[in-house]
Amino acid sequence: MMMNIVLFGPPGAGKGTQSQNLIRDLGLVHLSTGDLLRAQIAAGTPLGLEAQGLMNAGLLVPDHVVIGMIRHRLEECPDAAGFIFDGFPRTLAQAEALDALLEGLGQSIRCMISMVVPQPELVQRLLLRGKDSGRADDQNEAIIAQRIQEYQAKTAPVAQYYAQQNKWKEVDGTGSIQEIYSRIREAAGC
Ligand code: ADP
Repeated sequence: MMMNIVLFGPPGAGKGTQSQNLIRDLGLVHLSTGDLLRAQIAAGTPLGLEAQGLMNAGLLVPDHVVIGMIRHRLEECPDAAGFIFDGFPRTLAQAEALDALLEGLGQSIRCMISMVVPQPELVQRLLLRGKDSGRADDQNEAIIAQRIQEYQAKTAPVAQYYAQQNKWKEVDGTGSIQEIYSRIREAAGC
């Protein structure tokens, strides 16, 4: 049975950092829709061009685009020990599509780890990251506020979807990287 974990939380919660820890120690495959989209932009594909304007405005890209990318990556890695889903699912439609895709593989989500960080700290972290990441969406407070608003309107309800399946676990996303990592391992029971 694959170990499939959804890492969940608002922009700046630390999902990417903790994903790296999990893939290093558990041998899981990292699936970040943000990274996949940025790779499409860098390669100048039509999909990348479609996504770029939305991402730079702090809006979500259409569900069919990200679901297609995830389907493709799942098919490419049939022998994975499991996946860390980072930044996906971000809408209820994406969560339902993910369950259907995994069911087709005879697999399922083990748990959703929700990382909780107070909003002022999120904004500080993103502005700091914007200084050296070069990410356009990290450099402007109005765009950051728009991303947090998209999260609250469209993504936060996804937690309820997993709570109904008894798969939702909340962890404190403040403190040292190592402390947060220990909380995640404990919550995931792995
Ligand atoms: P963060 O979590 O810090 O906002 P990401 O790298 O996960 O950063 O995502 C950056 C942007 O990419 C999002 O603001 C959104 O525009 C787009 N994006 C990423 N994942 C998804 C998704 N699952 N559905 C829709 N849009 C997405």
